[in-house]
Amino acid sequence: MPRPLSFVSLQFFIGIAITFALLANAGNSNSQPTPNGAPKYVFLFLSDGGGMAHLEIARQYRQHIHKEGMVIVDKIMKEGSVGVMTTHAANSLSTDSAAAATAMAGGCKANIGALGMCADGTVAVSSMEIARQRGMKLGLITNSTVYDASPAAFVCHVPNRKDFTGIVNRYLEMAPDVILGGGKEQFLPKGQPGSRRDDATDMIAAFEKKNYRYVGNKEALAQVSKGKVLGLFSRSDMSMELDRDKQSEPSVYDMTSAAIRLLHDQNPRGFFAFIESENIDSASHLTDVASVIHDYREFDRAVGLAYEFYRKYPRETLIVVASDHETGGLGFTEALKDLSSTKGSNKAAGSVADLKKIESIGISLQKATQMLGLSPTADALDKLLRDYFPGFTLAPEYQEAILKRQPISRTISLDPTANALGMMIANHTQVYWQSSTHTNQPVLVAALGVGAERFKGYYDNADFGKKLKAVIAGNNHR
Ligand SMILES: [Zn+2]
Repeated sequence: MPRPLSFVSLQFFIGIAITFALLANAGNSNSQPTPNGAPKYVFLFLSDGGGMAHLEIARQYRQHIHKEGMVIVDKIMKEGSVGVMTTHAANSLSTDSAAAATAMAGGCKANIGALGMCADGTVAVSSMEIARQRGMKLGLITNSTVYDASPAAFVCHVPNRKDFTGIVNRYLEMAPDVILGGGKEQFLPKGQPGSRRDDATDMIAAFEKKNYRYVGNKEALAQVSKGKVLGLFSRSDMSMELDRDKQSEPSVYDMTSAAIRLLHDQNPRGFFAFIESENIDSASHLTDVASVIHDYREFDRAVGLAYEFYRKYPRETLIVVASDHETGGLGFTEALKDLSSTKGSNKAAGSVADLKKIESIGISLQKATQMLGLSPTADALDKLLRDYFPGFTLAPEYQEAILKRQPISRTISLDPTANALGMMIANHTQVYWQSSTHTNQPVLVAALGVGAERFKGYYDNADFGKKLKAVIAGNNHR
């Protein structure tokens, strides 16, 4: 029979247990709720175009190929709240990023192409504008151009999302503290090589005049630690993860790391950071499942940085992870190996072996398309397949589509080269696309921290905007 614990040793064990409990809470001791119940630190992560199947394929890949989980699923969703959000525009059953971001930023339904303008002609104040009123620092981080629709809807009110000069001018006026992404071409004065601006204003100089530090590569970004920062890391959109020069170009993870450092520095009023991976949408338009997976991983690592921050400041931090819409109607399915028969022996369903085939792909379909150019030759196509798509063979109809630059179907028609290569990958891996553009599939919203419970349930994207605005405004502003 085991000896009962003496009173002294029992006290000793209780003492140890209390010490451990105190140590475990030590990281939270500086985290105090704000008086009005609003979060002091807000992260909004947007996987542009990322539907449930995008997340699930990325998760299955992480699980089977890398034996790792995902922060979005294992931390944010499991510890926080999950909601389902509808995404249609006011004038269309499938949305674009401008109408969706307008709803999510301002809380009203908008027409396709409109930015920060409601379909009823009103202008809705955005959650970021409320954050500014509260004195919070603001961050806009994306691997798209910084003036692309999704970040711009949080700052601008213009009828046309393509008014890039107007959007950049508005950024200068509102002056968010941290702006990181692509799109240098709209900051260079008209006439300078690489410029696509409508006027002769040197916008980088204009931002520097407003005390911004300008950085143009990964190393310079890693070195800035305080003040306002404008970082432009490519002429237009930034690179897909598969193609990115890891030495010189920062990823969404690198930009998020810098943004947290800059926004948190000497900041008693907190911050609102909008952080987007546009590459998930861009890859889906090109039916590029490998890029979806690799870019989702980098996005998830960025969410991981916010999760670490939340663990230090749990009573003050809100993390929201959402998508604006689904792109591509993506999913693993069972498919015929070829069109010779409908017998079971001629069918294949997605498997772990298919994930391994995806792992062997060496470049994005965007890069493959650029390499083949607008007049591809059969020899160049053969070489491309040998070099970057080992084990994949192209069906004759898709080879013809590439060489003649013809769309492969009514719904898969964005770029014949990329879409035919995407269908080649589908034929070998059973992960198929319904479309090369946006669908009406509802998307997931995951939230953790202060106010996260408001994002539970099933709601429209305009209601998402209202919820986020109410959370940021706090109890005193309702
Ligand atoms: Zn899109």
